[in-house]
Amino acid sequence: MAQALKRYDPDRLAVATIASHTALQILRGAKRYGFRTIAVAGSERAAEFYRQFGFIDEVWRADLGNFRKVAESLVESCAVLVPHGSYVEYVGWRQALEAPVPTLGCRELIAWEADQRKKMLLLERAGVQTPRVYRSASEVDGPVIVKLPGAKGGRGYFIARSREELEARVRASGGLAEGAVIQEYIIGVPAYYHYFASPVYERVEVFGADVRYESNVDGRTLGLAEPTFVVVGNLPLVLRESLLPTVWRYGVQFARAVEELVGCSMAGPYCLESIIRDDLTIVVFEFSGRIVAGTNTYMGYGSPYSVLYFDRPMDMGERIAHEIREAARRGRLERLFS
Ligand code: AMP
Repeated sequence: MAQALKRYDPDRLAVATIASHTALQILRGAKRYGFRTIAVAGSERAAEFYRQFGFIDEVWRADLGNFRKVAESLVESCAVLVPHGSYVEYVGWRQALEAPVPTLGCRELIAWEADQRKKMLLLERAGVQTPRVYRSASEVDGPVIVKLPGAKGGRGYFIARSREELEARVRASGGLAEGAVIQEYIIGVPAYYHYFASPVYERVEVFGADVRYESNVDGRTLGLAEPTFVVVGNLPLVLRESLLPTVWRYGVQFARAVEELVGCSMAGPYCLESIIRDDLTIVVFEFSGRIVAGTNTYMGYGSPYSVLYFDRPMDMGERIAHEIREAARRGRLERLFS
């Protein structure tokens, strides 16, 4: 991709993303920093919605199932791709790994994220506290959450309060699904941390935090339904300041672990997902190698911590555009894209 980038005309550089998830924030930010903007829509319904916004120069209607073709057209348009949390869901992880267009961040991480066990390995290497993972139901000695591979938004997860309850459930469903992970259920409050890895300033910034608003765990179920974790929105979260040094250090350690295990440098936004226990210990159960939807909570008015780095409010879309502009100015774009 470095070769493709070298052929790009810096004055024509466009920022593109898939029309969903955090596309509004990404493209609005890019426009504010003077880039051309492209939204790639997988449906007419999405295209129609995104066409109404003046900061989006072009809305393409495309078959995301054939992403190679889209990627080639993006290169012809001098565009870089900002992948977001739904990108892999739309184009599939194999296509995402191979898409021939300069893509923000560490592309190989996508393959690690597709594998629950590799994911946990990376978190362990980062030296952050993680939930115990049980090899079989017989090892379980407390509450667990069972995660099914590829379950979208936590649909299909289930919780068991004890080994007996887990074994009964597994028996009733004719066995544990292939690839299912039995994880210690951590009791506490969820908190999701937004980071930005900056090759330009050679630092990791802790940028913001959110909480997800999840269907039946946050809904008025009155004990009538099983817990489900389908995300319907996000709520902004400002952390206790005394938690910030640990949260920031976890982000730095994660970026280092990616370099060591995956072999590429983090660049751009990423997220660690955690539960904070009542003794204020942070247990990380998941990560995202790209921008998460929780950053939408401060779209347009900036994250609470952006002022600490830039002395002015900035949302994540603007932060990405700022990095691209600075890297372009220094002739170092290849450090951001893979
Ligand atoms: P995930 O699909 O891994 O993001 O998980 C969906 C939701 O399940 C999260 O937002 C958390 O609220 C919850 N969750 C996941 N893993 C754990 C865990 N080990 N302990 C407690 N809650 C968890």
